[in-house]
This record gives sequence, structure tokens and C-alpha cells, in this order.
Amino acid sequence: MPRSVITGGAGFLGSHLADRLLSEGHEVIVLDNLLTGDLSNIEHLFKNEKFTYVHYDVTNFMHVDGAVDFIYHFASPASPVDYLEYPIQTLKVGSLGTHKALGLAKAKDARFLIASTSEVYGDPLVHPQQESYWGNVNPVGPRGVYDEAKRFSEAMTMAYHRSHGVKTRIVRIFNTYGPRMRLNDGRALPTFMTQALRDEPITVYGDGTQTRSFCYVSDLIDGIFRLAHSEEPYPVNVGNPYEMTILQFAEKVKELTGSKSEIIHKELPEDDPKIRQPDITRAKEILGWEPKVSLDEGLAKTLPDFKARLNSTTGG
Ligand code: UDP
Repeated sequence: MPRSVITGGAGFLGSHLADRLLSEGHEVIVLDNLLTGDLSNIEHLFKNEKFTYVHYDVTNFMHVDGAVDFIYHFASPASPVDYLEYPIQTLKVGSLGTHKALGLAKAKDARFLIASTSEVYGDPLVHPQQESYWGNVNPVGPRGVYDEAKRFSEAMTMAYHRSHGVKTRIVRIFNTYGPRMRLNDGRALPTFMTQALRDEPITVYGDGTQTRSFCYVSDLIDGIFRLAHSEEPYPVNVGNPYEMTILQFAEKVKELTGSKSEIIHKELPEDDPKIRQPDITRAKEILGWEPKVSLDEGLAKTLPDFKARLNSTTGG
């Protein structure tokens, strides 16, 4: 039975990955300092004897007893609001944390997979984004702390692959949504859904013509699982190519929830990418992967989780 370590396993993606690996029969060890993760995401796993949680800051030297087969490095603040609030922690977990996680992979002769991001493409000048595109990133802008940390982590990962022969994998994750996203994490989906369910104004930044392409979480986790088991060391985009404007996305959420909210506009954050859509040719060819869950289906699967959590926070 494979033994997997997930850094950031109490977060949105890390916890869904833990579910998937346990369902595949893996033993799972989650390391998380709960900076942006939440124990409620993994509460249901504590009764599983194949699951272990360790409260730990992975920017420090990591020790895990016994054999380890896979290390998934998912620890990082991942929403623009979070990495603006925690800029130094974001840079540290992408740099020092990646170094420590790679060191553990080398020591254990484990496979290593880094959760990279479409943010490595910055505000892209190429559309859709292929893995061969080097990006358009402002290193000193407010998003630079995340973008550059992830670019560094990709470089460090390739260095461990080339110099130490560590079996490394790099997934570039595009916008993903689903149950367990923090209600107040500031990203488009949780913000819009929370506002719509409360009949509060839905805040579209700028004129809303900027585009994103949203992937449902189970599709994304499936792509990551396949990549971890593939032999591909170079980056692979995993995301849903279905592109829409943020204004269309807000309207979609409003319609789905039957909300009375009005859509209002607020200032566009600095360096907010104007367009984003993954080219998933490599994922299709190498992993035999493409997304299966449509936006309508995915939003319908997400809604009950948000409703339940909003009801419990408002006491109603
Ligand atoms: N956005 C918005 N209103 C919000 C939150 C986000 O219009 O309340 C926009 C944001 O400016 C960006 C897009 O939605 O253009 C996606 O933002 P998100 O924070 O989800 O992630 P990003 O793709 O920018 O990393």
C-alpha cells in the first residue's frame, strides 16, 4: 500500500486529494499549519486508521518516520486575498517549504509532485496558455509573492530532478472550485456564492470582461492523480478550458442561486490577469485526461455545501 505525504492537506485541494488517495488505498499523512487550511476539511478522516494529521509548518526541516512513496507539496496560501495578507509566508512556503519537501523526497526516494499554478503565466500575452509559454509576471507587484514563489518552486523541483534524479512532477493548476472553499477566501466563486445566498450585492471587479476558466475539483484531482502516476517531469496544465468573463460567471451564480442580489462593480485589483484559459493538449496526450464535469453540474454540486456552511455560521 503506497504511503503519501500531503503538505497543506487541510486546505481546499489538499483535503480533496487526501480523500482520493485514501479511496485508492493509500496511507495518507497530512502536514499543515492551518494558516489558511481548516481542520473541518479533514475532520471526517480522523476515524480512518490510514490517515494521520500532523500540525506542522513545512518551511522547517521535515521528518516523517518510515517509508514514503509520494510527496504532494500543496501547502501555500492560494487566493489573492490570502497571499496579500501573508506575503512573506507565501514566499517562504514556496521556496523554503519546497526545498524541505524535495529534501524529504530525496531522502525517502519518493515521488514528488508540486502544486504549481497558472499564475506562473502572470498576465499572459499568449492565449490560451501552453506550458511552453514563459509568462508575463510583475515580480514586485502585489501578486508577485505568489507568482515568483511558484516559479522558484518549479525551478527548484527541476533542479532536484536534474541534479539528484528525484522523480518530480509539476502540475500547473488553473482556477478550481468546489465544496470546502473558504467562504471568505476572497476568490470569485466563494465570494459570489456567499453574496448571492445572502442577497447582498455581488462584487465584480473592474468591468468584468476579464476571463477565467473554472474547473470542478474532482476533475482537477483526477488530473493530479494521473500526473503523479505518470513519468512526465515537465509541467502539465490541468484545468477546464471552458472560458467565460467574470461578469458572465457572476450572472451564472446569481441565476443558479435564484438570488435577488444586484451585480455591482468595484476597482480591479492591481495586475489582475485579463485573460486565462488552459491549453490542455499535453494533459490529454500524456495523461489521457480531460474534464468531465460541466460548469452547471459543478456549481450544482457546490451549492449545498455553501448553503449548509452559511446556515451554520448565521445560526439560521
Ligand atoms: N473577482 C471579482 N470579484 C470578487 C472576487 C474576484 O470580480 O469578489 C475577480 C478577480 O478580479 C479576477 C477573477 O474574479 O479577475 C478571479 O479571481 P480569483 O480571486 O478567484 O482568482 P484569480 O484567478 O485572480 O487568481
